[in-house]
Amino acid sequence: MDFRLTDEQEALRESVREFAREVVAPVIAEHYEQHTFPYEVIRQMGKMGLFGLPFAEERGGMGGDYFALCLALEELARVDSSVAITLEAAVSLGAMPIYRFGTEEQKATWLPRLLSGEALAGFGLTEPGTGSDAAGTQTRAVLDGDEWVINGSKAFITNSGTDITAMVTVTAVTGTNPDGSKELSTIIVPTGTPGFAVAPGYSKVGWTASDTHELTFDDCRVPAANLLGARGRGFAQFLRILDEGRIAIAALAVGLAQGCVDESIKYAKERHAFGKPIGANQAIQFKIADMELKAHTARLAYYDAAARMLAGEPFKRQAAIAKLHASTIAVDNAREATQIHGGYGFMNEYPVARFWRDSKILEIGEGTSEVQRMIIARDLGL
Ligand SMILES: Cc1cc2nc3c(=O)[nH]c(=O)nc-3n(C[C@H](O)[C@H](O)[C@H](O)COP(=O)(O)OP(=O)(O)OC[C@H]3O[C@@H](n4cnc5c(N)ncnc54)[C@H](O)[C@@H]3O)c2cc1C
Repeated sequence: MDFRLTDEQEALRESVREFAREVVAPVIAEHYEQHTFPYEVIRQMGKMGLFGLPFAEERGGMGGDYFALCLALEELARVDSSVAITLEAAVSLGAMPIYRFGTEEQKATWLPRLLSGEALAGFGLTEPGTGSDAAGTQTRAVLDGDEWVINGSKAFITNSGTDITAMVTVTAVTGTNPDGSKELSTIIVPTGTPGFAVAPGYSKVGWTASDTHELTFDDCRVPAANLLGARGRGFAQFLRILDEGRIAIAALAVGLAQGCVDESIKYAKERHAFGKPIGANQAIQFKIADMELKAHTARLAYYDAAARMLAGEPFKRQAAIAKLHASTIAVDNAREATQIHGGYGFMNEYPVARFWRDSKILEIGEGTSEVQRMIIARDLGL
């Protein structure tokens, strides 16, 4: 067992780290404050190949793996989570369903632009009335001749309304299974399709430089060929996508937690009180030591889940553990980093204020902490 990175992985980590410090850090506070999408940063991430990291070269990808994506997400989130979640959603929720389940034609149509970062795709599962309980999906798609007619709405869909969003995949009820349960399928809806409306962006607590919208479908017609994978496979498809996505969110959470350590060390050395740096107090040192401990153990948890996934072994429980643990400790570290910064920690100009606002969603998105516990308990046979 060896958790050390290879030279290639270390080089990727270093280059993303440098990019985050030199390109993201100087501009992100302004985007965060103004709630604007950082197109120029995203364009440069595309040029670096980040959107193609876990995809085969013959599809236009970088020939890396899912762990490479996780390393990049960790380093981005160490500086900023809006940019990191944009990449996470674009790759693991946007392009991956097409890559894994798409027909040859769908792959040829969408993957080149998605993998280069020229275009983004959204993943529409959550609805205004149901999130954790996907069986509660109300959006319906009815086959009318050679077209699907979609009616319903989706809530909180990341990357669904940028100027470069090309399409969203939407889960919809397409019939009834023999056991009486809903038949769920996934359908590709290109941006601009008549009947597909994107509401203005939400006013969010955090991730304010990322793109999130409610979507409505009103007699929205797309070709029958836009069905992604087999009819009725929607449930199985998003379970697979979300299992993987949890490892990516865990990596992002570890990045935020480590960013809290970085900023706290810097501030503890600079800030003086009672005639000495606050970092000279053991109470502050212990806080930072505990933050490092949490970031380190959460990192091991996502490395383990990723290793199992890449080895083709079952990884559902380990992915849920990694996501649950990393999101919990990200919130812990953001709280402590804010405390170490005193009043300045409450000022938006300090990165820790962003970390604090960005941390809470990690316990909610891509399966809440309660849902992770349900997955772990179920996997333990309960
Ligand atoms: C910024 C942002 C971006 C997002 N991006 C996307 C996206 O790109 N695509 C997408 O499809 N979704 C997206 N989501 C949605 C997100 O995945 C959901 O919000 C999340 O899954 C929770 O669903 P919900 O909000 O409906 O909460 P609910 O499911 O209504 O849950 C409410 C509370 O009840 C708890 N709960 C529910 N059932 C149980 C139970 N059985 N036992 C115990 N507790 C329970 C939950 O844990 C939670 O605490 C995003 C959300 C946000 C805020």
